[in-house]
Amino acid sequence: MQLTEAQRMIYATAKRFADREIRPYVRERRDDESFPLDVMRKMAESGLLGGTFPEEYGGGGIDNVSYVLACEAIGGVSPSVFTAALTVQLSLVGTAIYAFGTEEQRRRYLPELFAARLVGAFALSEPNVGSDPAAMELTAQHNEGGWVLNGAKFWISNGSVADVIVVFAQADPGKRHKGIAAFIVDGDAPGLERRVITEKLGLHASNTAALFFDGVHVAHDRLLGKPGDGFKIAQTSLESGRTSTAACAVGISQACLDACIAYAGQRRQWGKPIGGHQLIQEIVADMATDCEAARLLTVEAARTRDAGEPATKAVVMAKQFATEAAVRAARNAIALHGGVGYLGEYPIEALLRDAIGLSLYEGTTQIQKLILGRELLGVSAF
Ligand SMILES: Cc1cc2nc3c(=O)[nH]c(=O)nc-3n(C[C@H](O)[C@H](O)[C@H](O)COP(=O)(O)OP(=O)(O)OC[C@H]3O[C@@H](n4cnc5c(N)ncnc54)[C@H](O)[C@@H]3O)c2cc1C
Repeated sequence: MQLTEAQRMIYATAKRFADREIRPYVRERRDDESFPLDVMRKMAESGLLGGTFPEEYGGGGIDNVSYVLACEAIGGVSPSVFTAALTVQLSLVGTAIYAFGTEEQRRRYLPELFAARLVGAFALSEPNVGSDPAAMELTAQHNEGGWVLNGAKFWISNGSVADVIVVFAQADPGKRHKGIAAFIVDGDAPGLERRVITEKLGLHASNTAALFFDGVHVAHDRLLGKPGDGFKIAQTSLESGRTSTAACAVGISQACLDACIAYAGQRRQWGKPIGGHQLIQEIVADMATDCEAARLLTVEAARTRDAGEPATKAVVMAKQFATEAAVRAARNAIALHGGVGYLGEYPIEALLRDAIGLSLYEGTTQIQKLILGRELLGVSAF
């Protein structure tokens, strides 16, 4: 793949960082489920937490291609760290505030998020509302002092540790998606209760929470954009999030491929390395092709975003293909490793569990396909 020198350097920096600062502690963090705030701070010191945002707000000023390469390098070692630090903190929260915030909101929050002095969360999903956010039940009522939020959010990554939460609320129920507003809410706001969601299948070092809003007051200056902009804000942020998540999935596929090539050369059965058996070669050949196809789609989505062209089609293709390819890669990597692939001692079984999480969040595979179908056929089937 053709990359610039700067893009190669960012990939190499992120890979070095992931190998030194994340890989040695992956297993420990998975077991104790500790939130990787220390890693986020080190990423900030290494210039890996500013993404594509302008330097005047403390951002990294890199292009989208460089950003997805960094996401691949970090995500291939720890999809949990990727979730907390990159897709949520930068792609979702950073994009919402940068693209729709006032100048005061940008200056107040963005440099703090990019230095990991503040942790952000993005609260769209609810107990009764996932794929169809226009049906959102959490309400925002306008009064003289600002807004009052009532309702619940579910599945919120970084939710119980976040200092600032971008919360989507229905401000005009009759209008469905046109009535949604977005607010920047303090994590310790009176009336907000947060509960950690435990026993997830994977992404164990990524914090996930349920949030309960009981008359939470939000001042006027915490509204993002205008009332009614919320759906557009969510879609804009999700387009960035889905691009980065596709890249994390490529990282998982590459990690599985690397592990398979190493193991196939070393494990012997029937008097020779298993890599010499035809069906093992088929697994490796299919995995390598899937991985490269996912990478090409992801970089193409990033290039389309860099060119400022409509990117929805490229982004949803990349997200659904790359996340499903990662699930296939991890599943087949376990098959290639035989019994030991099933053990926690090897990273593969955790990658399978994490990859499944990526195929669900920021819109399931089915939803990505429905968006793609709408783009191609011009008619919405949902
Ligand atoms: C690990 C993890 C982290 C997450 N982090 C966040 C976060 O930070 N912030 C946030 O807001 N949310 C977050 N989510 C929530 C996630 O975005 C939702 O789980 C996802 O959008 C699906 O919603 P749901 O779970 O309610 O499923 P549902 O919408 O109930 O869907 C159930 C099933 O029906 C399918 N389906 C739904 N509608 C259709 C249709 N029209 N046609 C065909 N099939 C359909 C879905 O694909 C799925 O298979 C997270 C989820 C997970 C698992």
